[in-house]
Amino acid sequence: MANIQKLGVIGAGQMGNGIAHVAAQAGLTVVMLDVAEAALAKAVATITKNMDRQVQKGTLAAADKDAALARIATSTDYAAFKDCDLVIEAATEREDIKQKIFAALTPHLRADAIVATNTSSIPITRLAAATDRPGRFVGMHFFNPVPMMKLVEVIRGLATEDATVAAVAALAERMGKTVAFAADYPAFIVNRILLPMINEACFALQEGVGDIASIDAGMKLGCNHPMGPLELADFIGLDTCLAVLEVLHQGLGDSKYRPNPLLRKYVEAGWLGRKSGKGFYDYASTPPKPTR
Ligand code: NAD
Repeated sequence: MANIQKLGVIGAGQMGNGIAHVAAQAGLTVVMLDVAEAALAKAVATITKNMDRQVQKGTLAAADKDAALARIATSTDYAAFKDCDLVIEAATEREDIKQKIFAALTPHLRADAIVATNTSSIPITRLAAATDRPGRFVGMHFFNPVPMMKLVEVIRGLATEDATVAAVAALAERMGKTVAFAADYPAFIVNRILLPMINEACFALQEGVGDIASIDAGMKLGCNHPMGPLELADFIGLDTCLAVLEVLHQGLGDSKYRPNPLLRKYVEAGWLGRKSGKGFYDYASTPPKPTR
């Protein structure tokens, strides 16, 4: 499967619609599936709005936008994937949901089709083992927002074949991305390094080493990071940060990954960051006000 032309995307949320957007813009034919028509309509509206913004900025020609949108079809029926070369699963981060999706999907696929998952934390090897094609199963981890972020981590499960890795890496490059190859260890490369830094920022906050504004200013101005670690944690979602830390802690068994108690408290309070209106910052005012 050297040359992927027809792509299936499962899950039309923030990641799924971004993947469909970039793939269609790169010339692929895309079929996007979700549980409900409403989710698909919303995803197409989001892609249209994001492409309109590109047209306004002059980074996409209006005719190319129309052609890209015309290459995206939607369906709630797995039969729509029957001639796909590759299907990327980007549904909710729950192993039971993903397992059910693969069981429903694979009977409809060609034998040589590749299945990829965009999971941030579930072991690729374990997901692959439950399918009919562990050799043609691979992790393809995009970053949010997909049209802006240049990286794709390609994660090889224990059984993943070289040809599978080569095919998805070539596709990521056609989509304008740069590939980082990762082995199948908890949280792969980026989150393995990023989340301990965010966790350490939470410990520094809890211990009073600095307040929120000082910690974020420190890392922005002292390390040239575009966002401070606590601001970034709010952007990712504090529940997501906690979930990735749990995966690192359980998967690697090292106490250095223990999730910070203050981070856990924020999640228990429902202060999840930007998406809930409050996290380490309160987004009710502009600029957002630190909560400590
Ligand atoms: P999201 O909540 O925005 O979207 C998930 C979508 O999956 C929803 O539209 C939901 O209706 C759909 N879905 C749920 N069950 C389904 C099923 N049985 N069949 C088909 N569709 C189903 O979530 P998201 O942020 O787009 O995350 C999706 C995946 O991408 C997760 O595995 C997540 O870990 C991963 N990921 C997320 C980020 C991020 O920053 N949000 C980054 C990289 C990877």
